[in-house]
Amino acid sequence: MTPGRRRWIPGPVRCCSCDRTLEVRRGADTADAGAAVLPHVPGAVCDACLPHVDGLAVAELRAEAAASLLQTADFETRTPEAAQFFLDLFGWVPVVVAAAALRLHADGKPHDAYALLDAAAAAGPAPFFRVEKAALLLLDGETGQAHDLLLATGPDDHPCWHLHRGTLAHAVGRPDAAAEHWRQQIATRPDQPLGWQTLGFYLLQQQGDLAAAEDLYRRACAEFPRHQEFRAWLGDALQRQGRAREALAELEAALALEQVDAEFAAGIEETVARLRTEQGGS
Ligand SMILES: [Zn+2]
Repeated sequence: MTPGRRRWIPGPVRCCSCDRTLEVRRGADTADAGAAVLPHVPGAVCDACLPHVDGLAVAELRAEAAASLLQTADFETRTPEAAQFFLDLFGWVPVVVAAAALRLHADGKPHDAYALLDAAAAAGPAPFFRVEKAALLLLDGETGQAHDLLLATGPDDHPCWHLHRGTLAHAVGRPDAAAEHWRQQIATRPDQPLGWQTLGFYLLQQQGDLAAAEDLYRRACAEFPRHQEFRAWLGDALQRQGRAREALAELEAALALEQVDAEFAAGIEETVARLRTEQGGS
């Protein structure tokens, strides 16, 4: 073990106020901490302490919600402690561990992220966690190690195997092979938005293949009708083809959808205002 590297093991869940150990029951994709789990970690609170805690509390936390919190929440503890809290609650549930590793990596703790995925691979579904590790290694430019992990696994091991395999091909200068994997990704797992995002970005921003990008984003919008980003990128692909009127309609439709990123939404608003002015004046 590397000195200073955290050893990840699921531990007991304690009340963050009185430190009493709470009983955790795990359903198929939920954890119930016996009393309450705050939506923003510091953690679980027992019944006795609950009345003294501000904010919304929920007794059950779904794995998907935990993964989402791990990606977006401002934690009141350091990231490794927050990751450990979710690990204590869920054990080696793949979607939660993967989100924890991504967050650790994003918050400048790559060694903790890799150690977590190694521990998970030793205790849980190893091929899934190997693919997750390959994805992080690709972010760090470690194509050699990522290659070994991806070649030792296959499309059945991970819902985004083709996505990461394509990113590896792209990183080593094989864009055609990359695009083929990304097409496989959306053909086999159309439910994974990342595949659409990655191939769309490649077609629109890197290849400048506007017709292909338009077609892809139309299909993405059909698959994810409430996804603001896909609708806006469709508008962008139309605008770049000089089809301002159609672009404006799509961008206005995008603005009506729930925003995920405030900055991105502000960009759409700006373009809509500009297109409206241009079209009003023509
Ligand atoms: Zn307590």
